[in-house]
Formats: sequence, structure tokens, C-alpha cells
Amino acid sequence: MQATTMWIWSPSWQGRFAVAARCWTISRSGCGNMAADALHVVWFKRDLRVADHAALAAACAAGKVLPLFIWAPQVWAAEDANLSQAMFVRECLQALASSLHDLGLHLHVYHHDPLSLLKRLHEKFRIAALYSHEETGNDVTFQIDTQIQRWCMAQSIPWHEWPQHGVVRRLADRRRWQSQWELRMQQTPIAIPPVSAGERLPHHGLDRLPVVAGIDQAGRQHGGIGVADAVMTDFLQRRVQRYQSGLSSPLTAPQACSRLSPYLAWGALSLRSLVQASRAASQANEAMHWRRNLHRFESRLHWHCHFMQKLESEPRIEFESFYPGFEQLQHRLTDATRMTRLQAWQSAQTGWPLVDACMAMLNQTGWLNFRMRAMLMSTASYLLRLPWRQSGSHLARMFLDYEPGIHWPQVQMQSGTTGINALRIYHPVKQALAQDPLGQFVRQWIPALRQVPDSWVLEPWRMPHALQLHYGCVIDRDYPSPLVDVVSAMQAAKQDWFEIRKQMQTAVVQDILQRHASRQSRHFPKVARSHTRRKSAPTSEATALPPVTQLSLLF
Ligand SMILES: Cc1cc2nc3c(=O)[nH]c(=O)nc-3n(C[C@H](O)[C@H](O)[C@H](O)COP(=O)(O)OP(=O)(O)OC[C@H]3O[C@@H](n4cnc5c(N)ncnc54)[C@H](O)[C@@H]3O)c2cc1C
Repeated sequence: MQATTMWIWSPSWQGRFAVAARCWTISRSGCGNMAADALHVVWFKRDLRVADHAALAAACAAGKVLPLFIWAPQVWAAEDANLSQAMFVRECLQALASSLHDLGLHLHVYHHDPLSLLKRLHEKFRIAALYSHEETGNDVTFQIDTQIQRWCMAQSIPWHEWPQHGVVRRLADRRRWQSQWELRMQQTPIAIPPVSAGERLPHHGLDRLPVVAGIDQAGRQHGGIGVADAVMTDFLQRRVQRYQSGLSSPLTAPQACSRLSPYLAWGALSLRSLVQASRAASQANEAMHWRRNLHRFESRLHWHCHFMQKLESEPRIEFESFYPGFEQLQHRLTDATRMTRLQAWQSAQTGWPLVDACMAMLNQTGWLNFRMRAMLMSTASYLLRLPWRQSGSHLARMFLDYEPGIHWPQVQMQSGTTGINALRIYHPVKQALAQDPLGQFVRQWIPALRQVPDSWVLEPWRMPHALQLHYGCVIDRDYPSPLVDVVSAMQAAKQDWFEIRKQMQTAVVQDILQRHASRQSRHFPKVARSHTRRKSAPTSEATALPPVTQLSLLF
């Protein structure tokens, strides 16, 4: 049985809903089987695909399916949301609607508070069960889930949830995490059984976007299941060969990296399918360098879940430092200085060309490679002394791939507040010399520096005034001088962080290690060993109290 409800258009959604409800009563009395007609609601969240979708498969096997996506106003009004992300999600929803249509299902899209929407649906049509993937989201989605869980229990509506990555809910022991990840990644992707019945009710459709701040970033990636598959294939069959050598420099990274992060963040691609496709590509290729690159790439997919597990296990880290003692470093500036610096950092006006070029690229495209994200965060926290929550919120808004579970642990790691990681303070000029020695990237993103020659472009404030005039880049007129002196800011930061680290309580640090640190890898032995030797290893976490000498690691 396909849709039995008549679709009657009415100017207000409330009205459409009411009209549909009446029609539904008529048709329901016609068939007279209430249990069979009750809805099996598939709540799509950050899993906007049909392939390898446990919740959709289970609902299809159970009865009449109502695929549902809710633009929750509170989610899109939050300080980490941006118009670009909403546009990307809408593109994913368009593709999802089309894939569901091929299965004989109709995607229902509503702008509504999720709890009151589900209440209304239940009141009018009866919900037999709710199906979804577990979400490791921000506090807003966590609160929504908590409310809905309570309501489902009160109404005796089963809410079936499945993990969609390697994140383990209510993880008891971190030591078993890695083997669980591997088990999940090896499972056969879930196939969707034939759909016996779908539902079609009035809904808002895809024309309308939620009320959300910000701009649509002109150079951003586009959403959708088909686009995700195409990006994956292009990466695994062609671009991956330059992965390791190209991922650090912002010049090469946009091509060398997979660029799959927004598709993973919104679930247009299943992580398990990606891991399996990467392993298949490795088996199909004899060349050692190709395999090594795929191996490195797969280790990142592992980090994806390793980081998300941190927020899943301890949601407070979205707002509070892992090690509470670092909170005192968050409020040292006057409000006016903080606002001036934050504004300059966000709008690519710090006076350090590589930092500003990275921010300009991020603001316009929604993406940046890992090392440059880390440098932006390190600059904000150590050199400018901005509270990580504020600078991290700007990055969250700008990242098309914003994934709370990766983002907040990374923000804290690059701000030195975890208590278990080595301190990494990036020197903006040294980074520029290493990653963009001729200033090509800098010139691409900072128009004021386009005419400045190689010898001055990475430190334009050192240029004699006559040359500034000659090259059309007068400091503090066309481009700012650095907000602070790097060397003294680094020294001061080292001293302040060092003071807190000296006084860290071993029991608290041990607790953080037990809960969050990665354990010796059995699945990525080579990668893990080589990375612990690298100064730039982004995930190295000591398994004992980090030695104080690590404080001298400056980049
Ligand atoms: C301050 C900061 C904030 C970050 N916020 C996010 C975020 O909100 N969302 C996000 O997806 N990534 C985030 N990252 C991690 C990383 O920078 C991005 O995943 C990566 O740059 C995305 O590009 P890609 O898909 O081409 O990566 P690839 O190098 O091709 O990696 C493939 C996938 O592996 C995962 N991955 C890669 N590097 C990491 C890492 N260091 N930690 C965890 N997972 C990783 C991602 O899912 C990525 O899509 C953040 C890093 C920093 C330093």
C-alpha cells in the first residue's frame, strides 16, 4: 500500500496538517487496521543517505514508513550554525528525497520544534516506533534528544537507535574501543529491504530554509549522495597518491586531501562504506606508495571516531576545558581588547599573512586543511589569548564540515587545555616559510599583498616605507601590522601554560587519560609508531603525565 492520505494544499502548514488529518481519518476508517497503519518514523539527522542506513532498513522491514527531517529552529539559531551549512544540508536533502523516491518513499521535511512535531504526528496518525542513528551532536541536539527520549518512554513508543560510526555509547572501557571500531567497520553495509508501504502527508518541502545567520560561502562544496560518491571515487582512484606529501601545505591540500569531511559530517556517505572502499582500493593496487597513502588516510578515519568519542563520553567539553585548571586562562583580556582581537582574527586582519590568508580561504570556501586549522586555533589561543569557546565558535560556523564531536576536542587540543597533550604553539612566520615559502597562497587570498615581492610578502611590516609605497601596500593603511609581538607572546604563553601544568593534579590527569587517550594501536601499528616520532603528530596523547620538556615544542 502506498500513500493513502490525500494531499490538500492550504496556505498555512497548521491548516494543511489539520486538513490532512481529517482526510486520514476518512481513509483510515476505510481500511480499519490501526496497528498496520501506524507510522514507522525514520528520523534523519546527520545521516542523509539511504545506503548502509540501519534505521531506514529496520523501518522498511517493520511497516508503513514515514521518512522525516526536521529543521529544528533552536539548532539553526545556535551560535555554531551558518547559512552555508543549511544550504549544504538542503542539497543533501534534495538528493536524499530523490533516492527515497526511487524506493517508493516520500521525504517529509518540517520546520518545527522536534518534540511538538512528533507529539502532533502521534496525536493525528499514531507513531508505532521511531528509528534513527545515534547522534554525537552539540548541547542543543543533545537536549532535544533527551526530551524526545522521555516523551517516547512516557508514550510507550519504542525509539530504536543505531550507531553509525565507531562511536560507542555508554562506553565502559576505552581499552576495548579500538577492536569495537574495527568490528563495526568490517560489517557488511546494510541493505534496504523492499518497501511494503510508505506514507505521504503534507509537509513544508525543501523550498524554505530555516532562519539562520551568516552567508552562503561562494567557494563551498556542494551536498548530496551522488556528489559524495564522486568525490570519494576521484580521491581513491586518483588524488590519494599525493595525500601524505600534500596534506600540510594550504597550496596542495585542497587537492591532496580527500575533501570528504562535509559528506561524513552530514552522513551523505557512510564511514563504513568509505573504510571498505579504501581497503578495496588498497588491495587493488600493487604500488607501495599508493598503499601507504591509503593507509595514512584510513588512520584519519579512525581519528574521526576517536575524537567524536571524547564528546560522546564527556559532553561538558563543548563548554569547559578538559583540565579545569585551564579555565583561569580564558578571561585575562579586557572586553575591549578581546573584541578587537577576535574581530581582527575572524576577518583576516591579524597582520600575519599566512594566518590571514587561511582565514580568508576558510571564510570563503568553508574548508581548510588540518595543519592550518590547528595554526589558526593556536594563534587565537596562545598569541592573542582569546577564549577557545569564542574563537572555536567562529570556526564552527565557518566549517562546512562542522562536526561537534571532532571540533571541540580539536579546539581544546590546539589550545593546550586538555592536560594530556603536548603543547603546540605555531609560529605564524615559520609556518609560512615552511608551507608557502614564495607567498603564492598568501597572495591568492590577500589582495593587498599581491604586488609585494617574495622577500617581504611573509613579513610585510618589515618592508621599508618607500617600498611599501612602491608596492602599494602601506602597513596600517592597506594591510595591518601584527596584533602582538610573536616572540614575547609565545614566551608569555609558555610561561602561563607551564605554571598551570606544573600544578596539575595527577589524579585528574589520570582520569582524563583513562577516559580519552588513545591506546596502543593494533590496527595501525606502522602509522601509530611513525606518528609518535613526528613533531607535528596531531593526535599524540601521552599515556602518562606529559613531561614538562614538551613545552618547548614550538612550530
Ligand atoms: C581546530 C580544529 C577543528 C576541527 N574541526 C573539525 C570539524 O568540525 N569537522 C571535521 O570533520 N574535522 C575537523 N577537524 C579535523 C580536520 O582538520 C578535518 O577533518 C580535515 O581537515 C577535513 O578535510 P578532509 O576530509 O579532506 O580530510 P582528510 O585528511 O582527507 O581525512 C579524511 C577524514 O578523516 C577525518 N579526519 C581527518 N583528520 C582528522 C583529525 N585531525 N581529527 C579527526 N578526524 C580527522 C575527517 O572525517 C576527514 O574527513 C578539525 C581540526 C582542527 C585542528
